[in-house]
Amino acid sequence: IQLLYMGLLLVLIHVAVPLIYYIIILTYARRPWLINSINVNDGELPAVSIIIPTYNEENMILGKLDNILEQNYPLDKIQLIISDSSSDNTQVKVEEWLSRHRGVNLSYIKGPRMGKGHALNKALEAASGSIIVTTDADSLWVKDSLINAVKWLSNEQVGLVSCVKVPRGGGSTEDAYRRLYNTLRIGESKIHSTVVFHGELLAVKGDLIRSIGGFPTDIGADDSYTGVRVASMGLRAVIPENVVCMEYVPSNGYSRWRVRRAQHLLQSFMKSIKLPKPSNYKPIYYTEAYIHLMNPWLLPIGAILLLASGSLWAYALIAVGLVLLVWSPFRAWVTQQFILMYAMVRNLWTKE
Ligand code: GDP
Ligand code: MN
Repeated sequence: IQLLYMGLLLVLIHVAVPLIYYIIILTYARRPWLINSINVNDGELPAVSIIIPTYNEENMILGKLDNILEQNYPLDKIQLIISDSSSDNTQVKVEEWLSRHRGVNLSYIKGPRMGKGHALNKALEAASGSIIVTTDADSLWVKDSLINAVKWLSNEQVGLVSCVKVPRGGGSTEDAYRRLYNTLRIGESKIHSTVVFHGELLAVKGDLIRSIGGFPTDIGADDSYTGVRVASMGLRAVIPENVVCMEYVPSNGYSRWRVRRAQHLLQSFMKSIKLPKPSNYKPIYYTEAYIHLMNPWLLPIGAILLLASGSLWAYALIAVGLVLLVWSPFRAWVTQQFILMYAMVRNLWTKE
């Protein structure tokens, strides 16, 4: 009977904490913003340096470059920087594209493969814009996302802007997970700042990113850590509804991809947990850190205690849980818990 109550308690905490947190954030997500993006006339838009790190992106790079031009940001205000470590034909593709777009200011930097953060920092040295935007080659921006991001950054309280993500080709589980996830990102941003940021589009003030020494090179989540770092300094690091990226979800190696992503996010939490944080940001950051680092373990431990209790009630509860797996948001949740636990264990021997 002791085991039964312990098991029940753990499962209850596991479910209740994120659920209550989600409901609270949802109410904020539905409220208006307390900070605004600033309307800027076309003539006064700041110069942006757009950095694309590339490792073997010959299939993506042309579509990526075209997509940036389709944003209709004034061309004389854009500097493109490709920081390439490819062994495929990425460079040839870039040169071919450039020969068709003579008016574009594009710098191509080639270097050995030393990780994405390192590639971003090398590009940062060559960047002249007052705003730095980094973007993965395998992502596309929904129209006007660039100009919207810049308008948010025109607010002096905002230090960094990232995007809402729309998955392409991930199936219903990925979609369900992303819906909950995007609501959290927006709600948290409306309170102060969120905790997860996306390499698909990360726009940051140039003097700010330089003042913190560029992007981290020792962890996978250069994007999330940089956002948390900015928020910890008291500036807002936000994901607004009108900055949107599309991301191709890999069809083979999907689980491995999810685990890698989770590993990177956990690395970001571990590295940022000790940073001093503004008081509005603390409840967001520490609840999310708890939900990612500790809460997942309560599920299997609770379930084992329930099974060990031998009680009929416990078996019934577990049966209900199994049946609920047909409901995709619940399935997405449970899947994510196991991915997080596996990612944490895997981080012990490899950071990749
Ligand atoms: P994921 O989206 O987190 O799975 O990471 P990706 O593999 O899509 O990488 C994000 C971006 O960084 C892509 O544009 C890659 O081509 C690029 N990239 C990844 N690793 C390196 C690297 O070591 N060097 C350079 N230059 N680019 C990299
Ligand atoms: Mn990617």
